Amino acid sequence: MSYITGPDVVKYACTCGLLKPIPQLYFCKHCLQIRCRFCVCHEVDSIFCGKCSENIPSAEARVKKNRCANCFICPSCQQELSTRIASKGPANPDDAKSPIKKTYYLSCYFCRWSSRDVGIPDQPSATGGWPERENVHINRLQEVLDTYKQIMHSEKQQKESDKRKQRGKFVSYTDKTGVTASALRKRIGLPDIPHAMLKKPKPPEPAVAKAEVDELPESIFTEPIKLMEVTTIEQRLMQPECQPLTVDKLFPVHKQLSIKQSLRCRTCEHNVSKPEYNPNSVKFKIQLLAYCYIPEVRFVTVEPLRAGQTVELIIKFTNPTQYQTTITILDLDLDEQAQYVEEQKLIDLTQNLEQALSLQEKQPMSLPSLPYSSGSQPSSLLSLPRLPSVIVKPRKIFTETNCDVAIPESSFILPPRDDAAEYDDSSEVHNFEDDPKLIKWRKSNKAFVKLAVTPRADLKLGDEVVCGFTMQHIYTNVLPPAVENKQPQKYDHKVRVFLTLGKVVGSE
Ligand SMILES: [Zn+2]
Ligand SMILES: [Zn+2]
Ligand SMILES: [Zn+2]
Ligand SMILES: [Zn+2]
Repeated sequence: MSYITGPDVVKYACTCGLLKPIPQLYFCKHCLQIRCRFCVCHEVDSIFCGKCSENIPSAEARVKKNRCANCFICPSCQQELSTRIASKGPANPDDAKSPIKKTYYLSCYFCRWSSRDVGIPDQPSATGGWPERENVHINRLQEVLDTYKQIMHSEKQQKESDKRKQRGKFVSYTDKTGVTASALRKRIGLPDIPHAMLKKPKPPEPAVAKAEVDELPESIFTEPIKLMEVTTIEQRLMQPECQPLTVDKLFPVHKQLSIKQSLRCRTCEHNVSKPEYNPNSVKFKIQLLAYCYIPEVRFVTVEPLRAGQTVELIIKFTNPTQYQTTITILDLDLDEQAQYVEEQKLIDLTQNLEQALSLQEKQPMSLPSLPYSSGSQPSSLLSLPRLPSVIVKPRKIFTETNCDVAIPESSFILPPRDDAAEYDDSSEVHNFEDDPKLIKWRKSNKAFVKLAVTPRADLKLGDEVVCGFTMQHIYTNVLPPAVENKQPQKYDHKVRVFLTLGKVVGSE
C-alpha cells in the first residue's frame, strides 16, 4: 500500500535489490522482471514548452538554452505571465471612425506583477519583440567559452595527429582541418603557418579576488529598509546574469522547456513507458506499471506486537489482471536470492570473457582495413550494431527482517478483475475450496488472508517490526502469441514483499 504522504508500509523488492512501494515500479513483460526507475534507461523523447505546447527540436532547444522564445514566467512569483491588451484612444481624436490602437503588456495573474512595473514599454504586437536585458558579463563569458572551444579543438587535433603517426607513413592531403595542410606547406617549401585552430589557445585573463569593495551607500544607514522592494534569493537566482537587488530591476524570464521521457528496460531494450508525442496529451503509448500486472498486497490489521509472541496479521491481496491467478506464499529466502545474484555475476563474467576473447580474435582482421578518410566517419564504424545499454545486474537485498512468518501450507485463487462487480448487488458465489485457516473473507478479485507472525524474542520495546515473504503468482502473458501457440502463456512469477508492521509494545 502506498500513501500520498506518510510511510510506505508494504514494499516490493525490485530486481536491483531496492525496495519500493508498488506504484513506483514497472514490470517488463518481456523479461518478466520488476524494474524501478533506477534500473531502466531514461531517454528524452521530445522537448516542448508547457505553455504554448510547441515541440522544439533538441538542437534548437540547445541554442535557446532550453527556454521558450515566446513564453515568459513572472520574475516575482515564477508563475506564467499572460499577455494583456491595453487599448489606447483613437489615433485621431477628432475622427470617430479612426481605429483604436492596441498595445500589449505582460501581466501575472497570481501576484499582479506587470511589465509596466519595471518600465518595459508596451509592445505593438502580442507575440515577441519584448526587450531583452543585456548580460553585463557577456564579453567575459564569450572569451572563456572561446578559449574552451579552442582547447577542445586543439586536443582533438592532437589526438588525430597522434593516431595518424601510429597508423603509417602515408599522408593524406585531403584534410580539411589544416593539420595535413601544414605538412603540405612544408613539402612544397612554403613557411609553415599553423592553422588558427592549432595555435596554442590564449588563456583569458584570470579573475582577480579583491579584498576592498565599494562602500555601502549612505542611505542604507539612514533610511528604513523597505523589505517589499528588496528581491528574495529565489528571485535573484532566477536571473543569474544580473541578480537584481531591488524589485524594480526584475525582468520577465523565458520559460524553461519540459521534456517527455520514455523508459527502456536495460536487459531486453523494450520500452516499459513511452508517452505520446503530442505535448497536449497526457496519455502513454506504453505504460507497464507493476500494479497492473502484479497482485497488490495491502496491510489491513495486526494484533499488538510483542517480542516472541505469535500474533495474527491480516493482509489483503488484489488481482489487477483480467486472468485468474493462484497465489502461494513462500518463505522469504534471502540466501537463495543472494545465491542467484552470485550465479548471475558468474554468468556475466564468463560472457564478458568470451566477448573479450572473440573481440581480440576479430580485431587484427578489422583494424587495418579501416579506410582512412579524414572529415568523415570510417564507413565500417557506421555499420557497427547498436551497443547494448549498461545492463543492471541483480543485487542482494539488504533489508533485515526481524519477524518470522508462518508459511501457510495451501495456496489460494484470486478471480480476475471485474470492473462491473462493484455495482453488482447479486451476491456472488465462488466455488473455491478455501482453507478457512488462511482465507478470512473474499470479495470479487480481493482476498483477505490471515498470517501468523512472531516478532523475534530479542526485540526491545519500540523496535520497528519488519516481516517479509515471497509471493508466487501466476502471470498470464498477454503479448501477441506466436502463430503456432495461440494460448496465452502462464508463468510462475515470484516477488519478495516486505511489510513494516509497527513497533513492539509492552506487555498487557
Ligand atoms: Zn530496480
Ligand atoms: Zn512557449
Ligand atoms: Zn507573479
Ligand atoms: Zn525487459
